[in-house]
Amino acid sequence: MNRIPISTPAITHEEEELVLEVLRSGRLAQGPMVTEFERLFSEISGTRHAVAVSNGTVALIAALQSLGVGPGDEVITSPFTFVASLNAILHVGARARFADIGDDYTVDPAAVAELTCDRTAAIMPVHLYGLPADVPAIRAAAPGIPIVEDAAQAHGASVGGRPVGSFGLGCFSFYATKNITTGEGGVVTTDDDGLADRLRLLRGQGMRAPYEYVIPGYNYRLTDIQAAIGIPQLKRIDDIVTSRQRNAARLSEGLRGLTGVRLPDVPDGRTHVFHQYTIEVLDGGRRDDIVAAIREAGIDVGVYYPRVVHDYDCYVGRPDVARDDTPRARQASSSVLSLPVHPLLSDSDLDRIVSTVSRVVG
Ligand SMILES: *Cc1c(COP(=O)(O)O)cnc(C)c1O
Repeated sequence: MNRIPISTPAITHEEEELVLEVLRSGRLAQGPMVTEFERLFSEISGTRHAVAVSNGTVALIAALQSLGVGPGDEVITSPFTFVASLNAILHVGARARFADIGDDYTVDPAAVAELTCDRTAAIMPVHLYGLPADVPAIRAAAPGIPIVEDAAQAHGASVGGRPVGSFGLGCFSFYATKNITTGEGGVVTTDDDGLADRLRLLRGQGMRAPYEYVIPGYNYRLTDIQAAIGIPQLKRIDDIVTSRQRNAARLSEGLRGLTGVRLPDVPDGRTHVFHQYTIEVLDGGRRDDIVAAIREAGIDVGVYYPRVVHDYDCYVGRPDVARDDTPRARQASSSVLSLPVHPLLSDSDLDRIVSTVSRVVG
């Protein structure tokens, strides 16, 4: 039987033709395709600005830099995230603090409130697996503190009818496994004209006009080749999201009666775009055996993430990485597993995932 991969980029002839157009145009770096990509993305995020950058990690770094976050500052984030969230904070010289997560796997607003102090320069909630954190509650818990959304996994998701990326600075990734991909790529969204201006300066060597440098900047640019891969997908985003949601609903329907696992739950008012379909094994001691047995049956399974991010040796003992205790995140890291949910799954793939998981867990 064929293997069911955990993710597959869904690239069509539209992407192929647009990339060819760029190759034939002789303009390979940042140009009109990037501008069009930004225009489409700002519509999706409902923001005045979308500034395309080279990847999602750079989006987080640039967002923090545009706010002036640096040494002496603290940034509160999730301990249950991809390492880039933490690395971006360290890269700008700030100290990372970790608020525990709730049962939705995103930061608990009450835990954020407890860590907030006069050194807190930004809060970086992570919209994990495609489910937005409760950003309005986080805002209310820490009024006036800038929010940098790590929306790398949540293109097109929303909270209370408001798209992610519109609550402060939104940081998205277009890495090959994400819901929308350009191979590598990123974007920062904001409604703030001043921040958007700083982001564009930071992206292009601090240059406002040819050879007029106004701040020390970098090269964070995306290329037109990458933007051409992304544009058709941005136009199809509603179909991409609907297809993931439909697959998730099919999985949940099939697995509903299964005891011993917790299925993904979508809190009221939030839209889940199912970057991952993640279940939790209630007897966490069985997780690794269950993962191995599902893989054995030809179905790829992901463990996102096997450890809380500040638990790795390279971070332990660093003064800029707080030792905040986050028991719910630790528990989740030993009990979650993610099943394929991407748009290229067939009905029979979904049936096979349900029957395999039911057999292995049951
Ligand atoms: C993918 C990802 C990033 C980083 O994006 P890159 O484009 O790989 O640099 C950051 N945060 C989260 C939660 C991610 O999943």
